[in-house]
Amino acid sequence: MTKKHQDLRRGVREVCSHFPGEYWRTLDAKRRYPEEFVAAMTEVGYLGALIPEEYGGMGLDLSAGCAILEEVNRSGANAGPAHAQMYTMGTLLRHGSEKQKSEYLPKIARGDLRLQAFAVTEPEAGTDTTSIRTTATRKGDHYVVNGRKIYISRVEQSDLMILLARTTPLEEVEKRSSGLSAFLVDLREAEGLTVRPRRVMMNNATSELVFEEARVPAQNIIGEEGEGFRYIIDGMNAERILIAAECVGDGRWFIEKATERAGEREVFGRSIGENQGVQFPIARAYANVEAAALMVEKAASLFDRGEPCGAEANLAKLLAADASWEAANAALQTFGGYGFDAGYDVERKLRETRLYQVAPISTNLILSYIAEHVLGLPRSF
Ligand SMILES: Cc1cc2nc3c(=O)[nH]c(=O)nc-3n(C[C@H](O)[C@H](O)[C@H](O)COP(=O)(O)OP(=O)(O)OC[C@H]3O[C@@H](n4cnc5c(N)ncnc54)[C@H](O)[C@@H]3O)c2cc1C
Repeated sequence: MTKKHQDLRRGVREVCSHFPGEYWRTLDAKRRYPEEFVAAMTEVGYLGALIPEEYGGMGLDLSAGCAILEEVNRSGANAGPAHAQMYTMGTLLRHGSEKQKSEYLPKIARGDLRLQAFAVTEPEAGTDTTSIRTTATRKGDHYVVNGRKIYISRVEQSDLMILLARTTPLEEVEKRSSGLSAFLVDLREAEGLTVRPRRVMMNNATSELVFEEARVPAQNIIGEEGEGFRYIIDGMNAERILIAAECVGDGRWFIEKATERAGEREVFGRSIGENQGVQFPIARAYANVEAAALMVEKAASLFDRGEPCGAEANLAKLLAADASWEAANAALQTFGGYGFDAGYDVERKLRETRLYQVAPISTNLILSYIAEHVLGLPRSF
C-alpha cells in the first residue's frame, strides 16, 4: 500500500468519525438519505476523487477510489448512497464529448451537481441487459423515451442520471449488444418521467421509473448512438472493483467487531472468545477477507495500468462479496441475540452487505462469466 493511500485512508477516517453508528442507525430507521455525509465527503473532494484535476477533481486512480470506499465501510458507515458518482462519472469521462465533460464534471466535482443515478435494470429484462425494452427514438433535436426501469438508486437525490435505452430495435441489429445508447438525463427538467420509490431491505433510496414520451435533448447522448452497451460494460469493471473494496471494508468491520465482542463477552465465567467454536468462524472469515483484499488490489492495479482486468474485476467482486457475507454471519453468531439488536449495528451492516451478492451483478452471473470467459466452458445462455 502506498504512502499516499495511507494519508488518504486517514483523511477518510477523519470525515467518517463525524458520522458514528448512531447517525447511520437513525437514517436506517427513517430510510433517510445521508445528505450530511455526502456533503462532507464532497466538500473534501473524496466523491470527485476520480475526476481529473483539469475538471476540478482530485485526479486519483481507481486504487485510491478503492481505499476511500473501503475506509467508509470499515468505519461502520455505508458508501452505498454515495459510491455511484465515482463510477457513473467514468462513463461520461471516457465517452462524453469535450463539451459535456467541461460543462458537467467541474460542477460534479464541486458538488453543485450530483450524478448518482444509473438506469439500466428493467422489470422484464432483469440480468439480460440486451433485452431491455426502454426505447429512445430520435425526433428532430430530441430523443423521445418510453419504457420502465426498476430498482434505480438515488434518482430523487441526483440532478443527473445515465440512462441506457434501445435506439435501434432488437430485430434490426446484427448483435444484441448493438443499438443501445447511453444518455445523460437532466432530472431537474425531465418531463414525462414518473419516479415511484420502492422500499427495500436496507436504507437504499431505490425507485421504479416510468418514461412516457419523455424528451431528452439529442446533445445529451453520450458518445455514438448504438454504442451504449459497450460504454456501460466498460464502466462495469470499475464498478465491480470499487464495490468489492466496500465489501472488504465491511468484512474488516465485522471481524473487528466480532473479535472485540468475543474478547469482552463473558458466559460460563469466561470470555466466549476462549472457545475455538467461537474463534474459528472469525479466523476463517478473516482469512477470506484478506485474500479477497489481495484480489481487489490486483484488479485495481491492472485497471489503473490500462490492462485487461475483466476476469480480476469479477473475481474481486465475487470473493469480496462472499467474504463480507461470511464475516457478517460470523459477527452475528458471535454477538448472539445482540446481533439482532439494531443498537449494535451488526444487523444493519449485514443487510447492507447482503445486497452485493445480487447487485450490481449477481454471484451466479459472475460464476457464469468465469466459466465461459476464463475457463473456456460452453456458453450456457
Ligand atoms: C437495492 C438495489 C439497488 C439497485 N440499484 C440499481 C441501480 O442503481 N441501477 C440499476 O440499473 N439497477 C439497480 N439494481 C438492480 C440490480 O442490478 C438487479 O437487481 C440485479 O442485476 C439482478 O437483476 P434482477 O433483479 O432482475 O434479477 P433476475 O435477472 O430476475 O435474476 C434473479 C436470480 O436469478 C439468477 N439468474 C438469472 N439468470 C441466470 C442464469 N442464466 N444462470 C444462473 N442464474 C441466473 C440471478 O443470478 C439472480 O440471483 C438495484 C437492485 C437493488 C436490490
